[in-house]
Amino acid sequence: MNNIADLNLCLPPKLPHTICLQTAPSQTEHINRIVGSLLGLAIGDALGASVEFRSHSYLQQHPINTLTGGGTWGLERGQWTDDTSMALCLAASLIVKKDFQPYDQLVRYKWWWKNGYMSSTGKCFDIGSSTKQSLEEFLRRQNLIHQFQILEKDIDYLSKDFLQQKKFNYYCSGEGAVGNGALMRLASVPLFFFRSPMQAVYYAGESARLTHGDTIAVDCCRYYAALIVAALRGYEKPEILNNQFVEKHLQWFGDQPLHSDVLQVALGSYKRDGHKEGIVGAGHCLKAMEAALWAFWSDHDQFREGVLLAVNLGDDTDTTAAIYGQLAGAHYGVRQLPKEWAEKIYGVQFIISIAEWLDYEGNRWSTKGESNGTPKPTSDVISQRNTIATGNNNSSTNTNRHITRNHSTQQSNQAATAYTPVTNSNAKIQAQLIQQYVPPIKVKLVASKLVREY
Ligand SMILES: [Mg+2]
Repeated sequence: MNNIADLNLCLPPKLPHTICLQTAPSQTEHINRIVGSLLGLAIGDALGASVEFRSHSYLQQHPINTLTGGGTWGLERGQWTDDTSMALCLAASLIVKKDFQPYDQLVRYKWWWKNGYMSSTGKCFDIGSSTKQSLEEFLRRQNLIHQFQILEKDIDYLSKDFLQQKKFNYYCSGEGAVGNGALMRLASVPLFFFRSPMQAVYYAGESARLTHGDTIAVDCCRYYAALIVAALRGYEKPEILNNQFVEKHLQWFGDQPLHSDVLQVALGSYKRDGHKEGIVGAGHCLKAMEAALWAFWSDHDQFREGVLLAVNLGDDTDTTAAIYGQLAGAHYGVRQLPKEWAEKIYGVQFIISIAEWLDYEGNRWSTKGESNGTPKPTSDVISQRNTIATGNNNSSTNTNRHITRNHSTQQSNQAATAYTPVTNSNAKIQAQLIQQYVPPIKVKLVASKLVREY
């Protein structure tokens, strides 16, 4: 295997293409829940960041009760960690590609790891071991592509036809990778695909397998995605937390039954008396999912209470709370998120904008005829849609990847009104291409304008 220093040569010579996000052309009736889920994830992440790795006993003595900075990573109040960064990478890929494209997802994760893409600080300061190992493997596999006379500057923009032809294997992980790193970023997948529950569950599993190949990690994501789908579709809480949820929605899971350990959680293993009965904020995906569900089950229908319960379990505080926030945010909607926290989240308008585009592009995807209830192999799906107006897979002929989305700004009458939609007038959202490839690449706020590469 090549050493990592050599593999760094795979990094793009210029920034990835940039999108000028103005505002999504329209919103559906689901927008309140979609924004709630993505922002709920970020709030949980930011709340837990200052005490990540603190023990339960420490947090019993010094409980978190509001959004604060400092602590473990020395972040500013409202800044978030790898959970939100990776969820935004995944969301960006779905929006830009208008589809599930594993290679592009891995490329964006790589940009985050190596260049701070979608980071709240401009750097990747925390990466899970399974994710890191998988991205190292992805870099190694990318490096092998050079044998086909592919230039370095093109390596991140390979066409799906080329990848298919070369039988590129996206699955960079295997059995034993049972960390919570795929679950923490999951929301973007069900937020995009929820109109087709079967495909949302299928792609949730596929998204996990890229970096967490163990069946338990994959099936945690499949089950949790199904719950988020149910929340987005307006299910009541008792229906979401029903011990027979899986049995009642077997068709959502296709012909792939859940791993028995995951099924135990689905059957209600989390319905017990918190930490004293073994609920822990651990790095194992099963434990993490159990803890998040316990917080949701125990929150007295208050996001604030649930997310603090998740954080104050201790240990992997930010991720437990981020997993909670995805589901609880989808259920309660953005209107129920604590406003004083939401408005302090780093890049909040950017996160809202991403959620709006997930709604818009996800809705378009589902109305194109793909949602016929039958998940397709990834390669088939990839080969179906190759007209990506905003994507640029051929960087060799275009050194300026400035891509502008400038749709009309018509808003749906059904759109939620209790949060601030991203519009030109209220946020002066603009994007610009940062030409230089000089790390750290970062999302940054400049005056009233949100400037980001995307
Ligand atoms: Mg984190």
